[in-house]
Amino acid sequence: MQTLQQLRYTPVDHAPDAPGLVAEGLTVYYNTIPALLDVSFAIGVGERVAVVGPNGAGKSTLFKVIAGILRPTAGTVRVFGHPPGAHLCIGYVPQRSQIDWSFPVTVTDVVMMGRSAKIGLFRWPRSRDWAIVRHALRQVDMEALADRPIGELSGGQQQRVFLARALAQEAEILLLDEPLTGLDTPGQETLFAILDRLRAQGIIVLVATHDLDQAAAHFDRVMLLNRRLIALGPPAEALSPAHLLRAYGGHLHVLPGEGETPAVVLADTCCEGSEGR
Ligand code: ADP
Repeated sequence: MQTLQQLRYTPVDHAPDAPGLVAEGLTVYYNTIPALLDVSFAIGVGERVAVVGPNGAGKSTLFKVIAGILRPTAGTVRVFGHPPGAHLCIGYVPQRSQIDWSFPVTVTDVVMMGRSAKIGLFRWPRSRDWAIVRHALRQVDMEALADRPIGELSGGQQQRVFLARALAQEAEILLLDEPLTGLDTPGQETLFAILDRLRAQGIIVLVATHDLDQAAAHFDRVMLLNRRLIALGPPAEALSPAHLLRAYGGHLHVLPGEGETPAVVLADTCCEGSEGR
């Protein structure tokens, strides 16, 4: 379980002209069990990518490596040319179940934590920091709840507060681990409207999701993962029946859909006999 205060970063300068996010040969083992095997990709500034795959496919592991929380067993990640450890411009929003919501902090406190690396240790926020925090809360329509304890908010509101925290951090890459889970349709629409604004600001957004329809509808590219990288491309290409069968194995039923993207029905169990095992 991560406390809210553990989600902090320290600053690093960008290498000029370096691509936004590059992974080469990423491999992660937990003891003897592989979670990621030889994963390589490059993602450009302003791209929005859905990371899709069955339970246990390594989506959270990938985000933790990019965020610098977990060291890969082999391979490298470069964020604007640098290794990710303690990289300020990465905003990581873990799955809701990974956060200790009983931590007694307000919405404003959470968003101000996004400023902590810029403010520095043992210093107080300045008027510019407060202005950035207010602006971030306004961007996600959460100004009115600024003084509420975070634990009292709905799941959708908590997601928006964490987005505001990443905005206050001036993050250039956002990693959102299953932000759609538990959100109703209006909540999902609000989230995508906010992500649309971030795209206009050139922020790279990676979203782990189980929802293939959302992945097909709202993202520039889809990364299909099952320990190995199975596909990374425009949704219709990445979510082809052949790729989906490789990712989900026998637990997938592919049905004909409208347009190029197939409609699919998934069994939400994992995937013995499929890729990477
Ligand atoms: P996803 O997010 O796609 O569900 P994860 O990255 O959480 O996948 O997990 C990938 C694999 O690694 C799974 O088999 C999972 O059980 C295993 N795993 C994840 N975290 C740990 C851990 N801390 N210790 C041991 N195994 C882990």
